[in-house]
Amino acid sequence: MSRTAALSAASAGAPLEATTIETRELRDDDVLIDVKFAGICHSDIHQVREEWGPAIFPMVPGHEIAGVVSAVGSGVTKYQVGDRVGVGCMVDSCGECAYCKDGEEQFCTKGAVMTYNGEGYDGEKTKGGYSQAVVVSERFALRIPDALDLDVAAPLLCAGITTYNPLKRWGAGPGKKVAVVGMGGLGHMGVKFAAALGAEVTVLSRSLAKQEDARAFGATDHRSTAEEQTFEDLKGSFDLILNTVSANLPVDAYLSLLKPLGAMVNVGAPSDPDTFAAFSLIGGSKVLAGSNIGGIAQTQEMLDFAAEHGIGATIETISADQVNEAYEKVVSSGVRYRYVIDTATIGA
Ligand code: NAP
Ligand code: ZN
Repeated sequence: MSRTAALSAASAGAPLEATTIETRELRDDDVLIDVKFAGICHSDIHQVREEWGPAIFPMVPGHEIAGVVSAVGSGVTKYQVGDRVGVGCMVDSCGECAYCKDGEEQFCTKGAVMTYNGEGYDGEKTKGGYSQAVVVSERFALRIPDALDLDVAAPLLCAGITTYNPLKRWGAGPGKKVAVVGMGGLGHMGVKFAAALGAEVTVLSRSLAKQEDARAFGATDHRSTAEEQTFEDLKGSFDLILNTVSANLPVDAYLSLLKPLGAMVNVGAPSDPDTFAAFSLIGGSKVLAGSNIGGIAQTQEMLDFAAEHGIGATIETISADQVNEAYEKVVSSGVRYRYVIDTATIGA
């Protein structure tokens, strides 16, 4: 065991403070990662503030991790010291159930072990990437291609895979019209990936403030959802709506924007329930769906696709002492478009 500097919240809603934590002895299949950058996902804020129900404290959040392998266990075959790697939302799964065998570890029947606010199969409480080091099984480390800098790669480990997965599953590509609702951390990655996959992309945001950025990310249209006219103009327009909003939305109004047979996929995870009318779906045989991160194999596919298309996150790099302020800015949608912590500044 060794100690490493980390940012930890003592209790629900408490500020993140620098402390030291223990990392476990390397098991045979473990890699020790020298964490360089950690993205701030809105899910970190939901969990630190216990907006999704009881959480485990003290909590070291962070599931958008990019760094360099600094040691390997005796049985590690996939990585060597010096390799550039990332870790996303999961650090373990049973490896034996049908979902794990199918590369959908997030649905592991034993329960995938989450990177933080989780418990390993040995009872160890997991701690995330707002830290200078993490230890994970090599099965849950991803290779970050050389074409991607580590800072812009970090957010791909959650925001990237969470948007890439449903875009692929629901057929975003040439000839398809895709709307991305909310252009924050997930949303801006959704725009970049949908455009790179060949779809025609519209951003639906609460104002027009981000429209130049939306076009730079590959959108061809950007509309304000504060204007009722938007819902009139775009009625029946989209094959796919990717909802990345962290708050509740008037779902029926968005469903009206789908073409018949179209799908609205929610990745945004507000704590209160949404409501919708059955006829909003029935009339056009529409689909209202959800999507949960993505498996390890697809996360690697997404990283390789991002490298090939020159896609990284658009980030603001911050030091450890700016994290609490950054949380407020994420909540008020002031981030452009992902905060990434330079972990070298923790405890410095
Ligand atoms: P974020 O950076 O805060 O972006 C959310 C965006 O939603 C904002 O930029 C804003 O876009 C819009 N928004 C915020 N409040 C709103 C409101 N009251 N009404 C309408 N629009 C609003 O958050 P994120 O990190 O992208 O995460 C988004 C959500 O996805 C969170 O709930 C997070 O927990 C969830 N998530 C889910 C998964 C999964 O596997 N399903 C994975 C990761 C995260 P505009 O300013 O453009 O309107
Ligand atoms: Zn996340």
